[in-house]
Amino acid sequence: MTINALYKLFLECSAVSTDTRKINPGDLFFALKGDNFNGNTFANKALELGAKYVVIDEKEFKTSNNHILVEDCLKALQDLATHHRKILKTPIIALTGSNGKTTTKELIKAVLSKKYRVSATKGNLNNHIGVPLTLLDIKPDTDIAIVEMGANHHKEIAFLCDIALPDFGLITNFGKAHLEGFGSLEGVVKAKSELYDHLKKHSKTIFFNEDDKTQVKQIGNYNKVIAFGANSKDTKISFVASEPFVALEYMSERINSHLIGHYNFNNIAVAIAIGKYFEVPHLNIKQAIEGYVSSNNRSQIIKTESNQILLDAYNANPTSMMAALENFTNLSYKNKTLILGDMFELGDNALNEHQHIVSFLEKQNDITAIVVGEHFSKTKTSSAKILALKTYADLANYLEKSPLKNRFILIKGSRGMALERALNIL
Ligand code: ATP
Ligand code: MG
Repeated sequence: MTINALYKLFLECSAVSTDTRKINPGDLFFALKGDNFNGNTFANKALELGAKYVVIDEKEFKTSNNHILVEDCLKALQDLATHHRKILKTPIIALTGSNGKTTTKELIKAVLSKKYRVSATKGNLNNHIGVPLTLLDIKPDTDIAIVEMGANHHKEIAFLCDIALPDFGLITNFGKAHLEGFGSLEGVVKAKSELYDHLKKHSKTIFFNEDDKTQVKQIGNYNKVIAFGANSKDTKISFVASEPFVALEYMSERINSHLIGHYNFNNIAVAIAIGKYFEVPHLNIKQAIEGYVSSNNRSQIIKTESNQILLDAYNANPTSMMAALENFTNLSYKNKTLILGDMFELGDNALNEHQHIVSFLEKQNDITAIVVGEHFSKTKTSSAKILALKTYADLANYLEKSPLKNRFILIKGSRGMALERALNIL
């Protein structure tokens, strides 16, 4: 089957699906393979559920004309996405980075939606399957598309760029995430910069943060850039406060966001710079930023009967953990407590990175902390204000016996720790 022939079939369908649990009538189903499943075995089920065609890659499953046999379903999905992207020619903004990709993507979407029809990555669909699905979701009347790209290995961003062919790009930050796959912070910088490499090679535009020394270094003397920052000539955006919500100043206007944490300043700033570049009126930019509220346990303030909680349990790595701790320790609240969970995927650096966090906590006078997980339980401290527990069950037991009352609590840990479970005992 040629790509043109497959594209014709795609145009007959309403959407693309790779999961029979979420299929809608009229969809084009791709039978992908995972570690524990073979999508080909779901092809008939997909047709029963209303899929118009099913793309398969094992010929014994071809039992009708609606079964489209290709060599490799994943490759076909990716090729189809690139083909669609080339035909529509919708301007694409790609973003990657260690932290804040989804938040920044949502902020950019909110800003650009004030003036344009915008299509963007749904949720966190940012890998070799999610990126093609995002591209195939772009409609002929879409003005701009925003594509989040995630990676935990070298060459992944380069690969995703070859699929999406972005016209614009940005890196949120370089941090210590997925060290297992990247080896070191230098490894992270190199891997994330694959986006810059791609954009430079194709003479495309890069938005970059002039206050981030690593970004400045990685941009080098490339000049198709739009800069932003506290003293930037292109887009001057100044930090005003984070008590706890980030406020900033842009074009003599104060913008009061509903995002917590100094680190969100950069996420907001790039969304403003992009809004300015695409000529969204600055009062609309302000409205978009002020109206955006984060979800999914990403830096939310929650009041329970007994406590006030800053819930940031979506994810954690050494960089985002330190960013959250620095922010939290600087907030002028009384009775502060931390509940921190292990940071995953750190390979040989795990113990060091967890010890580093505990050592930071030891230096804070006005804070008590409960740290939870295999790694944290192996750290050493002589501080009576830091309690290390091994499992979530230990935490739950402890909180049942010694309930916290009238505290301001930061909860943060890796996704696998799912610390939001503690909400109902706080
Ligand atoms: P993922 O790798 O899961 O796709 P992501 O890069 O999309 O993550 P978000 O989901 O936007 O990131 O944010 C996750 C958490 O990262 C936030 O709750 C916050 O704690 C932290 N974070 C967000 N932005 C930054 C930043 N610029 N620097 C450090 N930490 C940040
Ligand atoms: Mg994300």
